[in-house]
Amino acid sequence: MHVTAKLDSPSSARGSTARLSRPVVPARGSRRGVGIGELTLTGGFWGTLQDTNAAATLEHCLEWMERLGWLDNFDAVAEGRTGGQRPGWQFSDSEIYKLMEALAWEHGRTGEPGIEALLERLTARVAAAQDEDGYLNTCFGHAGQPPRYSDLERGHELYCTGHLLQAAVARLRTAGEDELVAVARRAADHVHREFGPGGREGICGHPEIEVGLAEFGRATGEDRYVELAHLFVERRGRGLLTPIPLLSSAYFQDDVPVREAGVWRGHAVRALYLAAGALDTAVDLADDELATAVAEQWQRSVERRTYLTGGMGSRHQDEGFGEDWELPADRAYCETCAGIASVMVSWRLYLATGEVRYADLIERTLYNVVATSPRSDGRAFFYANPLQQREPGSDVPQDAENSRAEGGVRAPWFDVSCCPTNVARTLASLQAYSAAVEGDTLTLMQYAAGEVAVELDAGGQLRLDVETAYPDDGTVDLTVLDAPGRAVRLRLRVPSWAEGATLTRGDGPATEAAPGWLDVDALRTGERLRLVLPMTPRLTWPDPRIDALRGSVAVERGPLVMCLESTDLAAAVDLADVRIDPGVPLQPGPDGTVLAGGWVVSGEDTPGALPYRSGSPGRPRPARPVDLVLVPYHQWAERGPAQMRVFLPVHAETEEQ
Ligand SMILES: [Zn+2]
Repeated sequence: MHVTAKLDSPSSARGSTARLSRPVVPARGSRRGVGIGELTLTGGFWGTLQDTNAAATLEHCLEWMERLGWLDNFDAVAEGRTGGQRPGWQFSDSEIYKLMEALAWEHGRTGEPGIEALLERLTARVAAAQDEDGYLNTCFGHAGQPPRYSDLERGHELYCTGHLLQAAVARLRTAGEDELVAVARRAADHVHREFGPGGREGICGHPEIEVGLAEFGRATGEDRYVELAHLFVERRGRGLLTPIPLLSSAYFQDDVPVREAGVWRGHAVRALYLAAGALDTAVDLADDELATAVAEQWQRSVERRTYLTGGMGSRHQDEGFGEDWELPADRAYCETCAGIASVMVSWRLYLATGEVRYADLIERTLYNVVATSPRSDGRAFFYANPLQQREPGSDVPQDAENSRAEGGVRAPWFDVSCCPTNVARTLASLQAYSAAVEGDTLTLMQYAAGEVAVELDAGGQLRLDVETAYPDDGTVDLTVLDAPGRAVRLRLRVPSWAEGATLTRGDGPATEAAPGWLDVDALRTGERLRLVLPMTPRLTWPDPRIDALRGSVAVERGPLVMCLESTDLAAAVDLADVRIDPGVPLQPGPDGTVLAGGWVVSGEDTPGALPYRSGSPGRPRPARPVDLVLVPYHQWAERGPAQMRVFLPVHAETEEQ
C-alpha cells in the first residue's frame, strides 16, 4: 500500500470549523473525508436511521446507564463513596464516553441546544471524578478499589481513556475547547507520564487507547500523543500481557508484533480497533511498513475470515476470528461493534490509498451489520449477528439487561452493553464515511438522499442534490446545484456487485459503467446525472472451502443480503426442511422482498438412531414445491421472534421424489 501521495501536504483539517468536522483526519495524505456539515441526509434509509438515533437511541442509552448506576459511579468517586459494590463491569465508563461522543457529533450536526446541555451535564459529572493528576476511572485507584493499572489484562483503564479521547475529539472538532476537552487533555497527559518514554512498559488488554490517542493528537496538534499511540502499537505482540485462562495471547493480539502479523485473529473488536490505531500512527509517522502490514491483514482477513454480511468473528468463546474458512452461519458471532470497527479500519485504508474495495466493504458492512443491530424504533439492539437462527428467540428480556450477547430478538440493553452506544456514535457521524474530497475531485461512495456541499481544496464550493430511494431502488439522480467555473470532477463508486450499471449525463445516452470508480469530468452548474445500479436479485455462492456453507447459496439484492424467515413460511413448514431451487429465476417482490422457488423436503427421523447413514449419501425423499419470500437481513426479527437463515441449502438430486 502506498500512502506517499502528497505526504508532505499539510492536512486541511486543523483549525477546521464544525461544518468540516469529522472523526478521522490524517495528518498526511491528499484525501479528506467530508465534514458532518458537508453532507446532509434527508430521509431515506440512512437519514431515517440517523433521525431515529437522535430521537430515541441517545435518550435510551442515557436512561439505561442512569438506571443501572453506571453514571452514578462517577458521582461516587467525586463524593468519596467508593468501596462498596460497584455496578457495571470494569469498562462501563466507556459507554458513557461513547454516548458523549454521539452527543457531540449530534450537536455538531444539528446544533440542537438540548443535546449540548445534556453533554455539558455529563461532562460535569465526569470531570468531578477526575483525580488531580489526570487519572480518570471509576473502577480502580480509589478507596476500597484495586490499585491503578493493577490488572492491565482485564482492567480496561486505558481502553476507557481511549473512548474519552474520542469523545473529546468530537467535541473539539465541532465546538472547540471546553471542559470535556480539558478533562481529556489531563487524562492524556497522565497516560503519557505513566506509559510514555521512560515510563511503565505496559499495554492495555483491550486496544482503543491507540486510536484515541492518535486522533486526539491530530485534533490538538500534539504530536507526542500520536507518538505514544505508536509506542503502544509497537509494544504489542511481545508478551507483555499474561494470557487470561482458557484464552491465548492472540485473544488480545499480544502473540505477534502488529507489523509482523499476516491476518486478524483473536477478539475481533480488539483486533480491529488495534488495526485502526496502528494505521493512524503509520500514516502520520510515515511508517509505510506498518501501513502495508495493516492493508495485508485486511486483505487476508476479508478473503478468508469475513461473512457475506461483512460481519467478522465466528467464535463465541473469545468473541473472535476463527481460522481461515471457519465461517459457520449459525455460530457466526459478528458482533455489531466488530462491524463498526471494520468500517473504521476500511475508512482509514480508503483515505490512505483511495482504493475502491475499502468503500465496497464499508457499504456491505453498513447495510448488513450496522443497520441490522438497532430495532426500527431505536430502543433495542442485536449484539451478535448470526446468519442463521435455529429457534425463534424467546429468552431475551425486554425490561432488563440481557445477560448474553446472543438472542433471536433485539434486547434493550446488555450486561456487557458495548454495542448500543457504538451504534449511536456511528449513526450520529455516519455521513462522514460517505464521501471524500481530493483536490478538485469529490468522491461519492455511499448513496443516500440528501445534499452534498463541499469546499474544494483549491477553493470554491461544489454542491449536489442527491435524490434516490436506494437501496429499495437503484436509480441515483444527481443535480449539480453549484460548481466552480473551472473543471472539477465527480467520482462515483460503482459497487463491485453492480454489473450492468449505467450513467446518463443530461440528455445524452446511457453509457455502461463498470464496477470501480467512475469519473465525471468538467461538471457544470445545473447539469443532471443519473446513475442506475442494477438491483436485480442474484444468487451468491460461498467458496467451497467454507465447509459449513457447502451445498448452500445466498440471495442478494443490490447491497442487501437477503434472508428467509419462518414468519414467511406456512406454519406446518420447518425452515430446516426448506431447499432453494436455483433453477427458478429470482424475482423482485413487493416491499423490497425477493421471491424464489424452493422445495420442502420431509425430514426423516429414525427413532433412537444417529442422524447419519452408511452407504449411499441419501435416498429420494418426498418433496413439494414452495414459494419463498426473502426479506433484507437487516430487517430480520422485526416482525417478532423467528427462525432465519441467509444461506439456503440447494435442492439436491438425491432428495428429489
Ligand atoms: Zn459490542
